[in-house]
Amino acid sequence: MPEAPKNIPEFDCCGGSVKIYDKNRKALQFIEEVTSNADEVQKQVLSEILSRSANVEYLQRYGLDGRTDRETFKKVVPVVTYEDLKPDIDRIANGDTSPILCSKPISEFLTSSGTSDGERKLMPTIEEELQRRSLLYSLLMPVMNQFVPGLDKGKGMYFLFIKSEAKTPGGLVARPVLTSYYKSSHFTDRPHDPYTNYTSPNETILCPEPYQSMYSQLLCGLYQNTKVIRVGAVFASGFIRAIKFLEKHWHLLCNDIRTGTIDPIVTDPTVREAVMKFLEPNPKLADFVEAECGKDSWRGIIIRLWPNTKYIDVIVTGTMSQYIPTLDYYSNGLPLVCTMYASSECYFGLNLNPLSEPSEVSYTLIPTMCYYEFLPVNRKNGFTGSFSKPVSLEEKENQDLVDLVDVQLGQEYELVVTTYAGLYRYRVGDILRVAGFKNKAPQFNFVCRKNVVLSIDSDKTDEVELQNAVKNAANHLMSFDATLNEYTSYADTSTIPGHYVLYWEISLSGETSIPPSIFEDCCLTVEESLNSVYRQGRVQDKSIGPLEIKIVESGTFDKLMDYALSQGASINQYKAPRCVKYAPIIKLLNSRVVANYFSPKCPKWVPGHKQWCT
Ligand code: AMP
Repeated sequence: MPEAPKNIPEFDCCGGSVKIYDKNRKALQFIEEVTSNADEVQKQVLSEILSRSANVEYLQRYGLDGRTDRETFKKVVPVVTYEDLKPDIDRIANGDTSPILCSKPISEFLTSSGTSDGERKLMPTIEEELQRRSLLYSLLMPVMNQFVPGLDKGKGMYFLFIKSEAKTPGGLVARPVLTSYYKSSHFTDRPHDPYTNYTSPNETILCPEPYQSMYSQLLCGLYQNTKVIRVGAVFASGFIRAIKFLEKHWHLLCNDIRTGTIDPIVTDPTVREAVMKFLEPNPKLADFVEAECGKDSWRGIIIRLWPNTKYIDVIVTGTMSQYIPTLDYYSNGLPLVCTMYASSECYFGLNLNPLSEPSEVSYTLIPTMCYYEFLPVNRKNGFTGSFSKPVSLEEKENQDLVDLVDVQLGQEYELVVTTYAGLYRYRVGDILRVAGFKNKAPQFNFVCRKNVVLSIDSDKTDEVELQNAVKNAANHLMSFDATLNEYTSYADTSTIPGHYVLYWEISLSGETSIPPSIFEDCCLTVEESLNSVYRQGRVQDKSIGPLEIKIVESGTFDKLMDYALSQGASINQYKAPRCVKYAPIIKLLNSRVVANYFSPKCPKWVPGHKQWCT
């Protein structure tokens, strides 16, 4: 992820003219200070949030009565999920400007990739949160610079995109957090800084049309190929999508480099102008790119086209780890650097050891960002495995949450946050494991997102959504006297973009065989039934490919059970898994496929919530 362009008041005492060396030193000093005094800082953060929010309706409802101490807060304020807050959030979305959750005006909603009732969750935010996000960004390069020197001597080729935004019925903008950040002056008006020197002009990042944005960013990246010393995107899936795009469009891009023009398919005048400002004919470079892209193998293409690249800056923790082999292939094993851990609710932390192996990556939560609590998992607390929905905590359990400095090494926790923007004891839905400590502040491995069974890009499909979608689709089989006996699913990322695969075992009692068009309808019905982040990935971002149903021979799921039992599963407790990841199981399933079908078209999707369109 790119770093904050602005100097952060907390540690910039020189009015923005400090040298890089000083800036780096101050950033590292800031990290030392806040991690050494993590508990004191957390206490202050909570007290600040609660004293500012003394008048908010939500806290008054629980009788906090203006108190700001941890003990009372934990005693009276419940731990909640999004569903608990939804009525309050809906009021804000519908235009109620009274201080419901936060005493400061809600500036916009950040639309999370986590969903509720099939729609993106709406996270209220306030203007000052942008500064907190910038603060976290501004710490990334000083940390990185300790491990990879000379990063101020070249450019970063980052593929960054904005997504569409919508307006709530009350008139607030609703958009993803990165769209909000890239459109803010914190990003667009950043002062010149060698660490925020990107190959993509702002106009190409802010172009709302995904094809034109990607095309122009690649053109600029290729044109400045020798200046590039680091490459990246937010998530691994986005970076691989860019390489795939290059594979498809390198002829056109080379033509543009050769002639110093930009293909007419890019019609956005601001993009054209920004690119044409520096693009000049460069036949030698065009020949070079053409020769490399024209070779049979694309192994190591990143290092071949951008020979000075030192690392790839992308998140490969969590579900993104499925892309590590592809990135290794395209880069000949360049270091994969995961720099930060953040969400729409709040930005949390950064990786202080950025060259660590992806499987070892841990994030240090920065104590100034919000007030953190941790719900130990593996108990009767709503997380009993990957298939459970969160349940409300009992009163006593509300108080069992652990503070930042009290977490235990090796233990797993669900993250709960209280933010400046008006979330109180909110369950983020991420499971983290304590991997170590930086001074007093814990460092966490990202374990998983609770309940998610399938994910290709930023989509997160849980088991209940999948079950409903499959049930809707299986209705198509009824008129053929066929029933769906068993199913499971798999996120197939061997193709780019990746796609969901469903394995179906059906039994047919009728005489008529089922025509392929019916199975295609089933594929589409599943897609239509999945949440809006999935459908946006299919329709707008093209980051997810058409869903596939593979019909397997009858008896396949018995074989699956035999396999599980041979691996030690208990026969009494065995349930067919609704999602599979383990290679031998996928191999077994694939060996018994008798037919496969793809969704014939994209499902429906419109920006914003479905209720807002009517
Ligand atoms: P969103 O609210 O849509 O921005 O998504 C935030 C979620 O993305 C987090 O709650 C995590 O589940 C996931 N996420 C963010 N950063 C990371 C990371 N570094 N590693 C793994 N997952 C991450």
